[in-house]
Amino acid sequence: MFEKVLIANRGEIALRVHRACKEMGIATVAVHSTADANAMHVQLADESVCIGPPQATKSYLHIPSIITAAEITGAQAIHPGYGFLSENARFADIVEKHGLVFIGPKADHIRLMGDKIAAKKAAADAGMPIVPGSDGGVETEDDAKKIAKKIGYPVLVKAAAGGGGRGMKVARTADDLSEAFSTARAEARAAFGDDSVYLEKYLERPRHIEIQIIADSHGAVAHLGERDCSLQRRHQKIWEEAPSPALNPDQRAEIGEITAKAIKKLGYLGVGTVEYLYENGKFYFIEMNTRLQVEHPVTEMITGVDLVREQIRIADGARLSFTQKDIKFHGCAIECRINAENPVTFAPSPGRIADYHAPGGLGVRLDSAIYAGYQIPPYYDSLIGKLIVHGRDRMESLMRLRRALDEMVVTGIDTTLPLFRRLAQEGDVANGDYHIHWLEQYLNAER
Ligand code: ADP
Repeated sequence: MFEKVLIANRGEIALRVHRACKEMGIATVAVHSTADANAMHVQLADESVCIGPPQATKSYLHIPSIITAAEITGAQAIHPGYGFLSENARFADIVEKHGLVFIGPKADHIRLMGDKIAAKKAAADAGMPIVPGSDGGVETEDDAKKIAKKIGYPVLVKAAAGGGGRGMKVARTADDLSEAFSTARAEARAAFGDDSVYLEKYLERPRHIEIQIIADSHGAVAHLGERDCSLQRRHQKIWEEAPSPALNPDQRAEIGEITAKAIKKLGYLGVGTVEYLYENGKFYFIEMNTRLQVEHPVTEMITGVDLVREQIRIADGARLSFTQKDIKFHGCAIECRINAENPVTFAPSPGRIADYHAPGGLGVRLDSAIYAGYQIPPYYDSLIGKLIVHGRDRMESLMRLRRALDEMVVTGIDTTLPLFRRLAQEGDVANGDYHIHWLEQYLNAER
């Protein structure tokens, strides 16, 4: 097994990886920007290396600095976390070329799934159900109109290089489509430097249900059930739960098996998530994420599997420590992504945390890297912690979530805790009766 792993990330996910390493007897190397010198991931790691100024492009995204940090500390492998370089195929290649191990999938799979047009085709070929849409990219507005007429309005124009919900525009009529087509292209060009777009049928009230999969280098593949991530704001998940309140065990087993079989066919390695929209009993593939997800803890809570530990073991050539038959689902877990943001306007709220009290007790997990006195830098995303609760059933989880949210105190900055306190009391949320547009509608109704 590796003796030393470099963690190329910051915040709660750097800590999450550090924790798995420590429990495996692996030493850790933290990297950080000058803005993060006092960060928790730096304080807890065995060694740390400053890799540059605050701007991510000059530090957390700066490949030469990260490779150099690994070389001078003698780390054997690099864990990219999520975000930053985690889905950068070139980085994965460079890591391997330097004789280091990239703790993640093969670069070719990152590349394939990073191009959403190619990914959709590969998913369909491997047997996954996909959203009806254009057969590949769409070059001109005229072509877009022809295809939209065939699939039927409303349609969604999506960026091939998309991510984080950017470069996505809905068109309800042929008139709308001209504008949707050009704005999606412009947004995609600005955000990703690539303006290829494609068309998809726009689903009106689907749920977002994703399947966690894992594959080792000896041909074993397993799925760890689903997560329901339908509560979203601007196509960004804020509340995730497992299992989905909408699926029964037979549906779970069926989509899990279809997905695991497809993943085996693709020859995938490591952990990954296949995202589907789910409407009227049918699943539609939208994309695959070739990394650890922010919301992985809910799966860990109901299966008892440490996904990061498995990820590290697989990268070291070990076999999966379980088979599909060993995976049993226990109870229900819910995660809230708590951001340093105004809970009404969602404006970022960096600054110094004055008081901090973490909730505790049975079935409560808090993945966070903040502490009292911590200065949240303005340069990175606003996630300050993930509150995860686990209960024997959904009602127990929900009651536990309400009391854990009431216990948690963060002062000195704005946080989205008040929003979660309200959501946990909402009838539709309590009943699991929501879809991907529910939260936007709820927030708009309040304005
Ligand atoms: P990104 O890579 O930007 O996250 P995804 O393809 O994963 O983009 O889509 C993000 C979110 O956008 C989904 O979770 C869903 O809420 C919405 N979405 C994507 N495709 C569709 C569709 N065909 N119909 C309706 N909503 C969609």
